[in-house]
Amino acid sequence: MSSIPKIVILGAGYGGVLTSLRLQKELNYNEADVTLVNKHDYHYITTHLHMPAAGTDHPDNARVSISKLIDEFKIDFVKSTVVQIRPQDRKVILEDGTLSYDYLIIALGGESETFGIPGMAENAFTIRSINSVRLIREHIEYQFARYKREPHRTDYLTFVVGGAGFTGIEFIGELADRVPDLCKQFDVDRSLVKIINVEAAPSALPGFDPELVEYAMEVLRKKGVTFRIGTAIKECTADGVIVGEGEEIKSQTVIWSGGVRGNRLIEEAGFETMRGRVKVDEHLRAPGHENIYVLGDNSLMFNPEGRPYPPTAQIAMQQGVNCAHNLVASIRNQSLKPFSFSNKGTVASLGKGEAIGMAFGKKYKGRMAAWLKKAIDLRYLFIIGGIPLVLRKGKFL
Ligand code: FAD
Ligand code: NAD
Repeated sequence: MSSIPKIVILGAGYGGVLTSLRLQKELNYNEADVTLVNKHDYHYITTHLHMPAAGTDHPDNARVSISKLIDEFKIDFVKSTVVQIRPQDRKVILEDGTLSYDYLIIALGGESETFGIPGMAENAFTIRSINSVRLIREHIEYQFARYKREPHRTDYLTFVVGGAGFTGIEFIGELADRVPDLCKQFDVDRSLVKIINVEAAPSALPGFDPELVEYAMEVLRKKGVTFRIGTAIKECTADGVIVGEGEEIKSQTVIWSGGVRGNRLIEEAGFETMRGRVKVDEHLRAPGHENIYVLGDNSLMFNPEGRPYPPTAQIAMQQGVNCAHNLVASIRNQSLKPFSFSNKGTVASLGKGEAIGMAFGKKYKGRMAAWLKKAIDLRYLFIIGGIPLVLRKGKFL
């Protein structure tokens, strides 16, 4: 190891940004050489992406320039795409270069999990990045325009959302809010538009509080959403989806929110994974690699009852803080701190002015929950960018 250790952070999402911000605060001058790599020069606020996807907000409001977040005198930012991780050589191969490291932080985020459903990867949209939500937003508008030219094609106005997890539920809440505007803009009768949420499990939001789930479904039904609960999508084609025992739902727009897996680069690097996620040790390190930390959607950790923590921004942020602490401790030959997740709860939006949530041991619904969701979003902006970012972006969240 050189006299100044090289720390390379892959991914400027929730885990990578929090690690970077903490390192730039805690490291002394010349104590380490820190590089952050991300494929875009902006950080996207994933927890906001359902809005630009449906078109109820502009994609620019869900992203922040990385140069506005980090101190480039303390952290080198490299805008590039990671193509290979080589733990055996302590190197990372980028599309346009190579980086060597003493400590590596892998925080590349998740990918959509299609469970091998035929045609899903090829024909469905996913809510995963600024680029993917721009595509969904434009595509939805285009369907309304197409329908006006071919009024017999009612499948242009049928929108299928696969999976009623939090992503699917938050998206249909926004889409249902957007549809009346689109109908007005394109002179389309609202009754012709169908939003169908297909969920394989016996309930929407499986495992969440049943009373809040019922409330959410009622709010969404009133906005015109149809639920097909206990119905699995078996195939996705260019003409729609095949569900249950072979029934076809014709649609030109399928949004897949059926699950998340880790990043394929991690499997390709030879780490042992479960659905692309590394089962990290209590200090967030990959087994057998004392110098490699794995965070956020790329990591797998279990709660005291032995069940995996769901991949959330909340856990990724807390891991980022813990990881930075442990990196500084390693460099200073101090003892590492085990990671312990402090669950603050879950709040999910159901469109304008409506949400559900469990936080601080209490249930919330309606306006109060929507307000709580906004407060959580503002808190995040404050954590990463202080008051200036809250003032610049906060009004949009
Ligand atoms: P990410 O935030 O996904 O960041 C990964 C980063 O790596 C990105 O910047 C990406 O561009 C970059 N990257 C990826 N591949 C490469 C590569 N090859 N080379 C270079 N850079 C690369 N969780 C909550 O706790 N609360 C919520 O309200 C919530 N809402 C959500 C709403 C939606 C619509 C979605 C999809 C998810 C939501 N989540 C929420 C889950 C949460 O967003 C994720 O768990 C969180 O983003 C994971 O953080 P991360 O740091 O692991 O990865
Ligand atoms: P998820 O895995 O939580 O939900 C996917 C849903 O798709 C499940 O209900 C599953 O039963 C269903 N499904 C799977 N295969 C299916 C099939 N063939 N046909 C129909 N339905 C099928 O995924 P997600 O909703 O994208 O959430 C990913 C992570 O992000 C989770 O950890 C979640 O908690 C988090 N998240 C949190 C929030 C929030 O806190 N507000 C919002 C969005 C996402």
